[in-house]
Amino acid sequence: MGAVRKVVVPTAQTSQEQVFDVVIVGGGPGGYAAALYGGRKGLRVALVEKDKVGGTCLHRGCIPAKELLETAAVYRAVKGAKEFGIGTELTGVDFAVTQNRKRKVIDTQHRGLQGLLKKCKVTTLAGTGSLQPGRVVRVQAADGSVSEVSAPAVVLAAGSVPRTIPGFEVDGRVVLTSDEVLDLEELPASAAVIGGGAIGCEFASMLSDMGVKVTILEALPSILPGVDKDVTAVVVKSFNKRGIDIRTGVRVQGHQPAADGHGTSVRFSSAPGAPEESLHVDAVVVSVGRRPFSDNLVAPGCGVEVDDRGFVKVDEYMQTSAQGVWAIGDLVATPGLAHVGFAEAIVVMDQILGQSPLPVDYSRVPWCVYTFPEVAFTGYSEEGAREAGYDVVTKKDPFVGNGRAAIIGETEGVVKLIAEKQADGSPGRLLGVHMAGPWVTEQLGQGYLAVNWEATVEEVAHFVQPHPSLSEVFGETMLALAGRGLHVG
Ligand code: NAD
Repeated sequence: MGAVRKVVVPTAQTSQEQVFDVVIVGGGPGGYAAALYGGRKGLRVALVEKDKVGGTCLHRGCIPAKELLETAAVYRAVKGAKEFGIGTELTGVDFAVTQNRKRKVIDTQHRGLQGLLKKCKVTTLAGTGSLQPGRVVRVQAADGSVSEVSAPAVVLAAGSVPRTIPGFEVDGRVVLTSDEVLDLEELPASAAVIGGGAIGCEFASMLSDMGVKVTILEALPSILPGVDKDVTAVVVKSFNKRGIDIRTGVRVQGHQPAADGHGTSVRFSSAPGAPEESLHVDAVVVSVGRRPFSDNLVAPGCGVEVDDRGFVKVDEYMQTSAQGVWAIGDLVATPGLAHVGFAEAIVVMDQILGQSPLPVDYSRVPWCVYTFPEVAFTGYSEEGAREAGYDVVTKKDPFVGNGRAAIIGETEGVVKLIAEKQADGSPGRLLGVHMAGPWVTEQLGQGYLAVNWEATVEEVAHFVQPHPSLSEVFGETMLALAGRGLHVG
């Protein structure tokens, strides 16, 4: 793109006229990352947000979910304290206190983000933005007043909302989506989690650890679709051991709220033609994916194409079909991950700054699921690599023999490496690193670097791991794949 054109426009916040180089619609991870990056590079940025900056990730997603999962981890630690000779009395969870702590974490992060935006001289406009022809963004404030702001570049980053399923109208009491679960003031005694993806499994893990009887109802043959089968198997085994009932291949038909107002009965069948089953639970958590929030975002005549699922269509540089309009984050059909939104924001802002950035390589972004045990991966699974036409060699090593894992008392887990098979049968380039186990979300870094650096197994096997550490399992597996394993053959 050429030099940035400056346009003088009246803004919603000030009566005097202000000039913006870029208007961003949506202040979630995609939008605020674009605003911070642009602001730091000297662009004059307007950020339109209808709620609070931070978006789903900070207020209704990643941060609150992981905070509650940490509560579950503390619960487990206290429960297991006797094993370390530490006397404790576990009297249950005061979920109101739990929620208070969660709110404090969010508030601190929110204040920090507001401060950063201010420091980067980003002008935040409160209201709902919609794109009009001519790169004009109409901003409707909560009081109904409307103003317009325009710039040579517009970035659409309006995010996503939970998907629901017919027959399960969300009432916030019995039928919940992630939005409502994260704000529960007390825990239900039992819950059916519909959908065993990342969100469903994280909630199942968290609720079960805090004493809720959980059943997962997943339509596909396995939970955690897309994750390597050997890694999923670790989670399934652990969930089963902790009493989480995982039902796969199910078709959920509907539910009947109890006449006395306590809970509901979910109807489902386990296979086509199988007799219908009924499960009484206090709460139903619908976690069947998220849909892009493109409702009323783009007025007719803007030239921005939206597909039939509601995703804004973009090319690999996040450019929409309208010149000077980009779209990023959950609004586009790329992995729905906050850090993917960050990466896409940088790709867009670099173009606006006249640079030539590389597009995001979605096949090798990091994925982390914060269940117990955690899941983390990057690059191809074994099945994925074979489907993509690679001849592969793999190696897996469990955490059970690792000293640090024994010390912390968390030995469930596995590291699995997937490498390209060379002509002589030896492993060449690393294609994927898939892990389940203690703190693997924090251990993925070196696997992520290796896969994205297109390093070979031989190259990575030269690196030394600290002892004793959980990351030794990664190093040992790599050595073994290179044919030089110490503890693993
Ligand atoms: P998902 O698409 O990952 O999983 C939804 C699951 O629901 C799938 O397994 C699907 O087969 C199942 N499903 C769909 N309809 C169903 C039905 N009618 N009955 C039973 N099962 C059904 O979606 P999600 O877990 O809701 O997550 C939404 C988005 O948020 C995803 O993009 C995800 O990557 C992202 N996210 C990521 C993380 C993480 O990486 N830690 C955490 C939370 C959310």
